[in-house]
Amino acid sequence: MFYEAKPTWVEEEWPEEGLNDFEDHGWDQPVLPAPATPGYTPRPQPDVITLGAVLLVVLMLVGFWRDRGRAQPAAALSIRPTPSPAITPTPLPLLDIYAVAAPYDDYWITQGPHGTSYGHYAVDLAAGQGTTIKSPINGVVMNHYTDIYGNTTLIIENDLYVVTMLHGEYTAPVGEIVYLGQPVGVESNIGYTTDMRGVSCRGRSCGYHTHLNIYDKRQQQNVNPLDLIK
Ligand SMILES: [Zn+2]
Repeated sequence: MFYEAKPTWVEEEWPEEGLNDFEDHGWDQPVLPAPATPGYTPRPQPDVITLGAVLLVVLMLVGFWRDRGRAQPAAALSIRPTPSPAITPTPLPLLDIYAVAAPYDDYWITQGPHGTSYGHYAVDLAAGQGTTIKSPINGVVMNHYTDIYGNTTLIIENDLYVVTMLHGEYTAPVGEIVYLGQPVGVESNIGYTTDMRGVSCRGRSCGYHTHLNIYDKRQQQNVNPLDLIK
């Protein structure tokens, strides 16, 4: 009867904990790699840092390509304001401010120094109606107007002299730099001019001349033009 008995004891004792746990739970079994998929060969993975460096270089090259030929932004120019030859003003020629010449190549004196009684000092020079009037100095045209007597007036000035001429048809515009000898108008008789007898030439063909006055800034007074234009 003993051998025929059912081995129910095995089932009853088996649940005892701790007896053969290490064998049954496979703790010391080696971890095997997952079976490879048939036909699949894994590619070698590129290094992450190398990949980033390559990407950075590509982005820089694209940036250079896009920016080539573009004008520098204004901000960059303001950081380094290197003077550009294109905007450097051309220096004016060094003018001789001491030089003084007659307003004509050839002329005659129709009246010597006059006007001193009212603080003026001038001479009258004539070269013929329509003769070109030239700038007596290197200077700037400071004014061009008709005075209360109807005299056309042209004023040319530099650091030493102020030259005033009357009666001509002046064409040099105010503000223009004029050089000694440069045409500034033609001779006329506009304004208060007279003939040899002192009769007004207004409306008549006579009395053509240039009334020339020169003020010396160093002396702060009018000077005799004949002393300078010789
Ligand atoms: Zn005069």
